[in-house]
Amino acid sequence: MIQRKSEANIKKMREAGVIVGDTLRLLRGMIGEGVVLRDLDRAAEALIRSRGATPTFKGYHGFPASLCLSLNSEVVHGIPDGRKLKKGDILSIDCGATLDGWVGDAAITVAVEPIAADVRQLLDTTRESLFAGMEAAKIGNRLGDIGAAIQAVIDKKGYGIVREYCGHGVGRALHEDPQIPNYGTAGSGPRIQSGWTLALEPMVNLGGDNVHTLRDGWTVVTDDGKPSAHFECSIAITEAGTEILTLCSDGTLP
Ligand code: MG
Ligand code: MG
Repeated sequence: MIQRKSEANIKKMREAGVIVGDTLRLLRGMIGEGVVLRDLDRAAEALIRSRGATPTFKGYHGFPASLCLSLNSEVVHGIPDGRKLKKGDILSIDCGATLDGWVGDAAITVAVEPIAADVRQLLDTTRESLFAGMEAAKIGNRLGDIGAAIQAVIDKKGYGIVREYCGHGVGRALHEDPQIPNYGTAGSGPRIQSGWTLALEPMVNLGGDNVHTLRDGWTVVTDDGKPSAHFECSIAITEAGTEILTLCSDGTLP
């Protein structure tokens, strides 16, 4: 069942979302050669807790950290550890914060400059596909229009689309109905309703679609070892339009 949130609920989700936006902004500013992944996790947890929130992912089904940090060929759910960033790396940073029981969930992929031109294009296209999805996520459209819009952007470049993981409803729980695949058929599925709060999150591979999970039980990697990018925003569908809930406190994207 897809829950519809009240204006008051969405206000709480916006407050949680801003903490996520500000945390991603802080982390983006920390990125550089030699930075240790675990230090990013510590900084994120400190900021989230300083705002009176809790890191949503910590302990979620036993996940051991506050952030999912996925490096290069890691797609999602990477565990922050002692590895250091190197020039040419890309790092997907997925962050969740829970404030007064309401969840914000967003991700960015950042570059340790300089990166290869084809990897730059992967990042740009993945972000673009998220924006196409958000544009399709509006009253009057159907759920399938979101995945179709995301897929159209990715298919143009011939990149792989991860099928095993998808966007989702978000609210009091990190993962609520509906599931939102990053592919789909325009005009299919239920009509999009005001009060829906969704996390859209294309996961896009420079190579093929296929992924598998490492023996740590968490880290998802591409089968072909090629890089993967991930961008995510939590959004609210309202009569006034679709709002991004995971902006920074200055109203801009992280
Ligand atoms: Mg996320
Ligand atoms: Mg998510």
